[in-house]
Amino acid sequence: MVIAFDTIQNAAELIHNAKHTVAFTGAGISTPSGIPDFRSPASGMWEQVDPMAVASLHGFRQNPQQFYDWVRPLAQLTLTALPNPAHLALATLEHKGKLQGIITQNIDMLHHRAGNKHVYELHGHLREATCLRCYKVVPAPPMIEQFLVDGYVPKCECGGILKPNVILFGEQLPYKELQGSQEAARKCDLMIIIGSSLEVAPASDLPLLAKRGGAKLLIVNLEPTMLDRIADVVIHADAAITLPAILERLEM
Ligand code: NAD
Repeated sequence: MVIAFDTIQNAAELIHNAKHTVAFTGAGISTPSGIPDFRSPASGMWEQVDPMAVASLHGFRQNPQQFYDWVRPLAQLTLTALPNPAHLALATLEHKGKLQGIITQNIDMLHHRAGNKHVYELHGHLREATCLRCYKVVPAPPMIEQFLVDGYVPKCECGGILKPNVILFGEQLPYKELQGSQEAARKCDLMIIIGSSLEVAPASDLPLLAKRGGAKLLIVNLEPTMLDRIADVVIHADAAITLPAILERLEM
């Protein structure tokens, strides 16, 4: 894959000139870590199921076994996945004071593992799970490991069903994360959108919020998105190649 030198240069200039940069990331930033996204043609995660049936709060309450069976490959990969060069480039940018925060739709915790400190996890994470009966919060990894071994729906000591702290369809976004993300979107003068189809609302409204506040938009995504026409620089390429290339250009 060849990325035009001019585009990398333009992207690096945007970051160089910005005073407050925020990244907005989606599942595409983690595909080079081996975690499939939802909407790429070959990913297949939505192909055999009705998302509203399995990945909604209502669906979970009706049939948690179906949810856990569907999420099994994603959960398994998330336990072992490592940050890729795109995550690491964002961590370096934050370390150098050129990135003030990340708003992520991902639940895989790879931005934290890469070393970023200012991360809003809009759709939750697989770090913890909550009992739907007594609301006790427990660490999720041991529960997921057990499920991967025995295939039974994870239960709390009280007998209630444990739900990972990920946001399902029909659930409200976590208030503090949403507030923080909106503030970050309003405050930034550059938003870098990476690996998101921008089809999941209300998260997908955040780049528009940034744009309305006067921020420039840089999009790095394999496929076209609905915001390409209002973005300042658009790169249709692999984030794990593009972000290190931009970083290298910035450092020159
Ligand atoms: P999406 O699946 O709707 O879109 C992913 C986009 O990333 C696509 O447009 C694709 O072209 C692009 N892409 C794929 N690989 C790429 C790469 N290497 N470099 C650049 N672009 C690439 O993802 P979304 O917009 O995040 O929405 C999906 C929802 O699914 C989110 O709510 C997210 O929480 C959830 N999800 C999360 C994970 C994860 O945590 N890793 C994985 C799957 C789904």
